[in-house]
Amino acid sequence: MAEKQSTTPLMEQYLSIKNKHKDSILFFRMGDFYEMFYEDAKTGSKVLGITLTSRSHGKSAHVPLAGFPHHALDGYLAKMIKAGYRVAICEQIEDPKLTKTIVKREVQEIITPGTAVSDDLLETKKNNYLASLFFNKNMCGFSVIDVSTGEYQLTEIDIKYVKETVLNFSPAEVLVGENQYSQFLDLFPTHVPFTITKRDDWTFNYDYAYESLTKHFSTLTLKGFGVEDFTNGISAAGAILTYLNENQKQKLVHINQLSRMSDSDYLIIDYTTRRNLELIQAMNTAGHKGTLLSVLDQTHTPMGARLLVNWLLSPLKDLEKINNRLDSVEELYNNADLRKDLEVLKKAGDLERLLAKFATGRANARDAKAIQNTLTVIATVKETLTNVKSNLLAELNSQLDALTKLKDRIDSCIVDNPPLSITDGGLIKRGFNKELDEIREIAYSGKDWIAKLQTSEREKTGISSLKVSFNKVFGYYIEITRPHLSKVPPHYVRKQTLVNSERFIVQELKEYEEKVLGAEEKIFTLEYELFNKIRQDILEDALTIQKNARVLAKIDCLNNLARVAIENDYIRPDVHNDDYIEIHEGRHPVVEKLLPPGEQFVVNDTFIDNKADQVLIITGPNMAGKSTYLRQIGLICIMAQMGGYIPAKKAKIGIIDRVFTRVGASDNLAAGESTFLTEMNETANILNNATLNSLIILDEIGRGTSTFDGLSIAWSVVEYIHNTPHLAAKTVFATHYHELTELELILPRVKNYNVAVKEWGDHIVFLRKIVTGGCDHSYGIHVAQLAGLPKPVINRAYEVLSNLESEALNQKKEPKLAEHRDTQSDKIQQMSLFEELEKSLREEINNIDPNKLTPIEALNKLDQLKQLVSNENKN
Ligand code: ADP
Ligand code: MG
Repeated sequence: MAEKQSTTPLMEQYLSIKNKHKDSILFFRMGDFYEMFYEDAKTGSKVLGITLTSRSHGKSAHVPLAGFPHHALDGYLAKMIKAGYRVAICEQIEDPKLTKTIVKREVQEIITPGTAVSDDLLETKKNNYLASLFFNKNMCGFSVIDVSTGEYQLTEIDIKYVKETVLNFSPAEVLVGENQYSQFLDLFPTHVPFTITKRDDWTFNYDYAYESLTKHFSTLTLKGFGVEDFTNGISAAGAILTYLNENQKQKLVHINQLSRMSDSDYLIIDYTTRRNLELIQAMNTAGHKGTLLSVLDQTHTPMGARLLVNWLLSPLKDLEKINNRLDSVEELYNNADLRKDLEVLKKAGDLERLLAKFATGRANARDAKAIQNTLTVIATVKETLTNVKSNLLAELNSQLDALTKLKDRIDSCIVDNPPLSITDGGLIKRGFNKELDEIREIAYSGKDWIAKLQTSEREKTGISSLKVSFNKVFGYYIEITRPHLSKVPPHYVRKQTLVNSERFIVQELKEYEEKVLGAEEKIFTLEYELFNKIRQDILEDALTIQKNARVLAKIDCLNNLARVAIENDYIRPDVHNDDYIEIHEGRHPVVEKLLPPGEQFVVNDTFIDNKADQVLIITGPNMAGKSTYLRQIGLICIMAQMGGYIPAKKAKIGIIDRVFTRVGASDNLAAGESTFLTEMNETANILNNATLNSLIILDEIGRGTSTFDGLSIAWSVVEYIHNTPHLAAKTVFATHYHELTELELILPRVKNYNVAVKEWGDHIVFLRKIVTGGCDHSYGIHVAQLAGLPKPVINRAYEVLSNLESEALNQKKEPKLAEHRDTQSDKIQQMSLFEELEKSLREEINNIDPNKLTPIEALNKLDQLKQLVSNENKN
């Protein structure tokens, strides 16, 4: 407090520290408070909801100030970090009593959203990623780490995909080189959902990065990790390591593996698709409810929950791997005993994060106990799974290691309900350490000793009411009541006089007191040392513990998929490598659960392939069930390829490589996010990236603009997908433009479907059933009527509609159909051009007699033919 008045030197100290941590909010310790000043105070008061005050500091004007008591640090820190800020914690590093000038202060720790490891700062079921980007021409090195679990990966990607890759990981924080920040801004021009941390460019230097990584992993090269060729990725990964070493000061022993991230093994689900299909986040609330994850996640362990998100966002593409998972899910599905026994997983702790706490020096005795308990769970799981048949489960089980020695050691060392603090004793079991037991004997067997002293002193003095006691201020004493004072022996030394008694001390008691008080200190130190040894033991098994965590997560996920399948009446899909998808009585896994009571989900079939039924056009009025049907196809494919059961009666799922979903702008509820331009950007992305093996889901594309524009765009997009040989992906297109059904007439692989509705006088009844053929009304006004618009409005709308329809025809002086015919004739013209080329090629080739050609002539001929074709391609 005295210090607060000595304004100027204090503020000087503050400013010099703040200068080194400009990008962080500085929590500046002052006595029992952490204070923030200037801009930090303003930000802090807003984010933390604490009062902003100000005080005068010498000549300088009033300085804004906000603070909170030191014991509230954890809570306020969590709030600040969750709001995306970096926090530098500045402590007093000397005892204020021992200095006459200003107390020395130093930043002890910097906590950032991407480097957090403490429970307060993390979400159990979500990874907490720190990402790093290193741009190099049109490539970008990309690396992510989850410090709280030890997962560490790198890759290199085309600059085109950086934005999407970053968003897919939804990192808490992203590192970018100072001089590369403008490139970063090109990709993320507006607000981003993570903290951006600009770093010195040298931290991305390849040689430096390579050296830091090999030094950290104690390897000569990075070959063993299979990442050597990703030089930009290595730069990005190295920058992460440098950053962590700067912030975390501790050794990061739990980060012991670097893995190569690869797209080619997984079904790619881009960011927009992930949102549109509401895989892990609901579209309008951004919450958990209404997502596929909310239906699928009933995992027992935190690491299982995190892995499930991973499986969901990166389903497999390899048939054998998919079937391996399915076989295991099937075995669990069919074996109730196994599932019951695996409920023991509920008792497992968050092994990955526990280990991270030990590695970063934040663990306490309860964490050690949690590791012990989880090892016990592992032993049970191992026994439970001894006789499993499916390959994957059996293999996983063989990889589990119950670490009996470590478990027993923790068990024999740490008491069953240890305290939170590791410096105040009470955590080590009796019998674990001889020295500790002896000191404890001295310190805590006090009662006996005191009783003995009391008896012997009573005998010696003949004072039967003599009492030996202790209090915090005076320590040990002998108390004698007034009537007996005359009998007090001369070697008793008076300590304190009370109304009815006097208190004395004797040499023997004084010695005892010293021993006991010293013993307590010794106990605390020794217990702390012993705990640190256990900590070392745990860290020595870090690799095995980490592997256990990963294996346990997989077992949890497989078991989860089986349980969810039973609960929701899913079946095992027949996954295959052919190019068709056939679903009988499919359901939307989320919508079926959210229907109001009494309403039945109407099942629907799907057949789509590359040969004859490539583009399905689904028409039907608003609210008919088009969007639901579209998404259900995508979701079923994803669920099947993640190795899970699906909501259907029977299904054959041909493996897909990517799934694209686009939703027309006006259908997208997320306000301000999706303009017509983004919708078109996204459509362009599909047309540029889809392959024969992709699944494209288009929901009301072209809706965000005028009817004619929208219809024309929708029309030509379908044509393009249908007619471009390398694109020709399986496509489901929902539209309320019933005009699009005419595409079936001119494009052989387009098939029309509609969602059946029944008309009842002025009303329509939704049957939710997909039937073949197009529908010819747009029913919009019907729906308006259903919504309760006043009768006059409805009637007038019908009038305007018919005006519009007739006017459109009149103004153009051509019926709308003519426009279609134009497009069609263009198409026919193109076809005939192509046929001409084919004909001339055929003739040319027929005219060649290979026996009569010299090698040079042959080459020339070949060149000529090639010219012919490539000229055509240019047109
Ligand atoms: P559209 O895209 O045609 O406007 P939606 O797919 O959004 O229609 O469906 C509207 C509502 O109808 C959904 O929110 C859901 O409650 C219900 N619904 C859709 N499909 C089904 C179905 N197969 N069975 C039962 N209810 C359904
Ligand atoms: Mg819809």
